[in-house]
Amino acid sequence: MLAYTYVEKGKFELREKEKPMLRDEKDAIVKVTLSSICTSDLHIKHGSVPKAVPGITVGHEMVGIVEQTGSEVKKVKPGDRVTVNVETFCGKCFFCRNGYVNNCTDKDGGWALGCRIDGGQAEYVRVPYADQGLNVIPENVTDEQALFVGDILATGFWAARISEIKEEDTVLILGAGPTGICTLLCVMLKKPKRIIVCEKEKTRREFVRKHYPEVILAEPERLPEFVRENSEHGGADVVLEAAGTKDTFRLAWECARPNAIVTVVALYDEAQMLPLPEMYGKNLTFKTGGVDGCDCEEILRLIVEGKIDTTPLITHRYSLSHIEEAYDLFENRKDNVIKTAVFTE
Ligand SMILES: [Zn+2]
Ligand SMILES: [Zn+2]
Repeated sequence: MLAYTYVEKGKFELREKEKPMLRDEKDAIVKVTLSSICTSDLHIKHGSVPKAVPGITVGHEMVGIVEQTGSEVKKVKPGDRVTVNVETFCGKCFFCRNGYVNNCTDKDGGWALGCRIDGGQAEYVRVPYADQGLNVIPENVTDEQALFVGDILATGFWAARISEIKEEDTVLILGAGPTGICTLLCVMLKKPKRIIVCEKEKTRREFVRKHYPEVILAEPERLPEFVRENSEHGGADVVLEAAGTKDTFRLAWECARPNAIVTVVALYDEAQMLPLPEMYGKNLTFKTGGVDGCDCEEILRLIVEGKIDTTPLITHRYSLSHIEEAYDLFENRKDNVIKTAVFTE
């Protein structure tokens, strides 16, 4: 089968590999029908994910059809159309029982697919702990509607869930890339009084303006003043940082009001500074990533009910054999790309 492979720092390559086989009674083999490229894949390519194992198939955002299951898999069966969770988790350890599945203590726990074990930018993928990692896609939900459920949408949902958003709040979201928009969609479900989205790229601001006209748009320049002018208590009540740069990390706490919650959704390429003397007295609460992706069933229900729709994010489509072109487009932000869908012929 074809599998897009992490060869070494700076190099991914489409290779012919053996089709994966069951290795454990809790595994499933999924025929991938649609996958996507995530910024985290680029982090692997750029060598900023130390845990990534050279030689593995990349890709951790995908949907597909269950082809084979181990004898202990109960929730899914061959033929089921499923979303695949970015995280592998046992469902039994202390962290899993508390919903902190990102820190599952299993050797494959957390983000393993497409990082430490073979992922889904391929024709087939082996999913460990299939009962936890797979969710059946309801009949009236398409593959494209479900594509982001297991990763960036799970991230947005988790970020909104832990941010303790109240109806009187002004919520600031930094970044309107794919994760920022998924975060926005999930924040909107909490119905805060006001949502401000800050994005430096004009085309991305235009995307937000077109699809979510109720949102207040801002640019990074003068953002702290703008947020103060557009909120009641000297800054945002809740800030979600989904852009992942040094500047946005700083803006996140600068734009927060005293005693605000600052949720760091993004993954950074390098360490960030917390200038505590400057922040002293602001009494902020920081919550940091990554996602505990255990809400996929609820997210699928919200999609069925029409409350979440991420299909506008899919701006480009490629076949797996043309995945190099998809990467070139996504990595170099060509043609106003937001997300690509990669389909298997
Ligand atoms: Zn991802
Ligand atoms: Zn666990």
